[in-house]
Amino acid sequence: MSKDCIFCKIVHNEAPSSVVYEDSDVMAFMDIRPVSEGHTLIISKQHYEDIFAAPEDQVAIAFKITKRIATAVKKVTKADGISIVQQNGKAAGQDVFHLHIHVIPRFEAVKMPKFGELEFANRLTLENVAAKIRANL
Ligand code: 5GP
Ligand code: ZN
Repeated sequence: MSKDCIFCKIVHNEAPSSVVYEDSDVMAFMDIRPVSEGHTLIISKQHYEDIFAAPEDQVAIAFKITKRIATAVKKVTKADGISIVQQNGKAAGQDVFHLHIHVIPRFEAVKMPKFGELEFANRLTLENVAAKIRANL
């Protein structure tokens, strides 16, 4: 665990999250500032700063579950498409330096906004969509 890392705190139940999936290697939960309803993050439980710091098998495990989560998110949100986004380094837009993959529902003619400029979702909304995604995994 890395001190002061928000995702490590979520893994260790020291910060709240709306969990969609968890196993010994990965965890998936709702993004607190979603691009659209259903925006989910898949993270490694171990603290790796980015894709370069993580072992190949941990990256593979995270992407394997990403496929399952993306399928459930698409079904629940009836999205026209799903963007899978994985940012490494400040220049790439990475803001939280703990390996994570975004699953983002996309809709025709709606542009991708900048992540840092989005509104916080309320916990009840996140819990409701998380329950629907869990039921479809
Ligand atoms: P990045 O820009 O690093 O690829 O994405 C980090 C993401 O983590 C952002 O979309 C941001 O909204 C999300 N995030 C930051 N802090 C928290 C938090 O405390 N809880 C949750 N659920 N998401 C967070
Ligand atoms: Zn961490």
